Amino acid sequence: MKKIIAFLLGAALLAGCALNLVTGRKQLSLVNESDLRLMAVAQYNTFLTENKVLNPGNNRDAALVDNVGARISNAIATYFVKEGKPTVLEGYKWEFNTIDDKSVVNAWCMPGGKVVVYTGLLPIAQNETGLAVVMGHEIAHSVAKHGNERMSQALVQQMGGMALQVALSQKPQETQDLFMMTYGIGSEVGAMLPWSRQQETEADQYGLIFIAMAGYDPREALPFWQRMSETGGAKPPEFLSTHPSDQTRLRKLQQFIPEAMKYYKPK
Ligand SMILES: [Zn+2]
Repeated sequence: MKKIIAFLLGAALLAGCALNLVTGRKQLSLVNESDLRLMAVAQYNTFLTENKVLNPGNNRDAALVDNVGARISNAIATYFVKEGKPTVLEGYKWEFNTIDDKSVVNAWCMPGGKVVVYTGLLPIAQNETGLAVVMGHEIAHSVAKHGNERMSQALVQQMGGMALQVALSQKPQETQDLFMMTYGIGSEVGAMLPWSRQQETEADQYGLIFIAMAGYDPREALPFWQRMSETGGAKPPEFLSTHPSDQTRLRKLQQFIPEAMKYYKPK
């Protein structure tokens, strides 16, 4: 019986591997992007009703987040048209929201382009370019379908490879919890899953290209991540628990800067 289950699971994994259009890497993908986007919209809207959202019409921070988001999302659209892969952005409806909570150093992007930045991140960002670095990184995770990969892995590990729709109907609460953990959203830092080293590398690599195209100097990424890794003290920020930042990562980031500079057009 065990053998049969292992075989079926293996077959499911094999069938569930997809070539990622952005990175060219084979990823586990048991979840439909369109299902994931639907779930994201629901979770995003619930999140916004439960948190204090700043209005870009009368708040400078929110206006800045909006503006940086618009620049980056335009750059990404241009990038994938030039690459001949416009389908990567299928179903994307960008939304950028700023949450008024200075105690939270975090930002994230759900599938379909649903972005949140907490005001606690802004002192570390220091300026528009710093903000672009972190938003570019989060958006790159989303565009590279890292959430799909993590959600698929979680469904295999915790629900025996159950399809997302089945999991949602049979175990709605657990499935929603998995989703929140997958995207690093929640109040319990200990319950969040860190992005893998490979996912971090890809988000850094593409994030730098996207912000360079949006008119932001990719060289500013190094001092930004340095500032981020030095933040925290006794209580490290939420962001670091989901995006491990160490010297190896910073060295790799440095190697991606020359490539990103080729795309850089100062705004
Ligand atoms: Zn990351």
